Amino acid sequence: MAEHARERPPGAVDFDAELAVLADSAASYCRSREAAAAGTIPEALIDGAFGRAAAIADQAESGARAKQATACRKGCAWCCHQNVRVSAAEVFHLVNWLRTRLPAEELKALAAHARESAARLQGMPQPPRARARIACALLDLATGACRVHEVRPMLCRGQLSLSAQTCQQAVESPGEHRFEPLLDALHGAGLASMSLELEFAFFGGGPVSGELTAMLAVALTDPAAEVRWSRGENPFPRHNEFSTHLNSRMARMLAATWARLADEGREDFNQPRDIRAAAMTFLRETTGADEPLH
Ligand code: SF4
Repeated sequence: MAEHARERPPGAVDFDAELAVLADSAASYCRSREAAAAGTIPEALIDGAFGRAAAIADQAESGARAKQATACRKGCAWCCHQNVRVSAAEVFHLVNWLRTRLPAEELKALAAHARESAARLQGMPQPPRARARIACALLDLATGACRVHEVRPMLCRGQLSLSAQTCQQAVESPGEHRFEPLLDALHGAGLASMSLELEFAFFGGGPVSGELTAMLAVALTDPAAEVRWSRGENPFPRHNEFSTHLNSRMARMLAATWARLADEGREDFNQPRDIRAAAMTFLRETTGADEPLH
């Protein structure tokens, strides 16, 4: 990422730095697509992409923490009562991580808990979820700790707060109060999330993102879900509130990023026409829209 002499206000967007990150993601997408076509397993591709995206989010998080004393600590889990947008790649990454660490019985219990929470959450917007106190299925209710902290989704990494009371109020009185995450960390997490989704936008055929618990329930329950996703099938439910709008936005960003890279003549970016056509097809399929991408 480029160095910048001038200090930006907290949360302000550095578009040049963003473009550099997204350009790398687009180039990785090209490489990943070739690797997938050559038979590399999805898990191996996701591992590398997840590490790159997590580094972006973690850097933003530690930068924000260095500037301000946050109220966040292990065991404080008000923010884990939100609908969290997550990509398919992140869900499969954390489920594979859990499979290598939890005994079979614990995995089975977690899958049942995720299915039960997902059934309650179906189509539920944020305020009723907070009122019903439905926590993320990955929250350890006994300790208030995240069971997958090391591999938690990108957007969870951006939830830094200056006040635990503000977070508590956002859960207890969601009509009157909201979460107020620090913009620096949230923005870095959003960029990391986009970077990851860009890399896998056309890898799977269904929604690239959705509500965490809903997607987790599928990934934990269906052992073939990851392979189905990698073949272009959609193993996830369509009832979440994120997918259509965000997939449309992602397709636009992809096309705009790649078009700009093509204009700049980047050496590692050699498939602009092909990928632009794929972006347009993806946009049509996900939104039914037939509109310009710029
Ligand atoms: S994945 Fe972890 S940090 Fe994210 S909402 Fe769930 S319990 Fe909280």
